[in-house]
Amino acid sequence: MLYQPTQETVGIVRKLRRGLNGLGRRHHCCVCGRTFFRFSKFRGGWAAVSAYLHNVRWTGSDFDHFWCPFCRSHDRERHLILFFERLGFWPRLEGAAILHVAPERRFAARVEACRPARYVKGDLVPAREGVERLDVTAIAYPDASFDWVFCNHVLEHVPDDARALSELARVLRPGGVAVLQTPYAAGLETTLEDPSAVDTEEKRLAFYGQEDHVRLYGRDLFDRIRAAGFGLELKTHGECLAEIDAARYGVNADEPLFLCRKPG
Ligand SMILES: [Zn+2]
Repeated sequence: MLYQPTQETVGIVRKLRRGLNGLGRRHHCCVCGRTFFRFSKFRGGWAAVSAYLHNVRWTGSDFDHFWCPFCRSHDRERHLILFFERLGFWPRLEGAAILHVAPERRFAARVEACRPARYVKGDLVPAREGVERLDVTAIAYPDASFDWVFCNHVLEHVPDDARALSELARVLRPGGVAVLQTPYAAGLETTLEDPSAVDTEEKRLAFYGQEDHVRLYGRDLFDRIRAAGFGLELKTHGECLAEIDAARYGVNADEPLFLCRKPG
């Protein structure tokens, strides 16, 4: 009879593997502070990403250095945390009113620790305690309600992204800051968005990068953000985090910080 691993043995093997990984010093997680041999890949890593997305220079997550094997932080959370640290944003969140759409767990914990006066976490399909139902194209809060808005890796899922951007700008107070991390193709001038041609999960994966993305942004993403009334500043890894070895910290050095200010 073939050996059938039980849940328990699978758990033990996983723990053992993680323990061995934790003996490494090559990589470091800025969320949990652990060092280890390797981050976990997202699906098959960069090697599994379509040739098309490689050609148009997809810029977003680092698929090879994605999850921390210990705290499960994502590369983009780690990058945000490093940017916020460097730009001195954490103390500015104390006492602030913050809206966080599709809140990333570990990043949200850091925000919470800053003791904002009001911290609204919302998702179209809330999956955990403390997250309310929120449609980013119809935000149920008055104008100028928030000092900060965080809405990362959301716009590429939203059919009416212009409406979402205008809603995010509306609820932000003049002088407030929105952080709108969004994957895009640096080698593509114009956004690829063709529901009649890119009409299957396989095609969306190959051309948009994920089965549930509705487009692949080109560099005109920046114009779309500005058209909603934001002043957009792209802070690069090189400019802000030059001494941070991106591979060691498990972040994508090509991913800029989308710093969007509402004038006023
Ligand atoms: Zn970690």
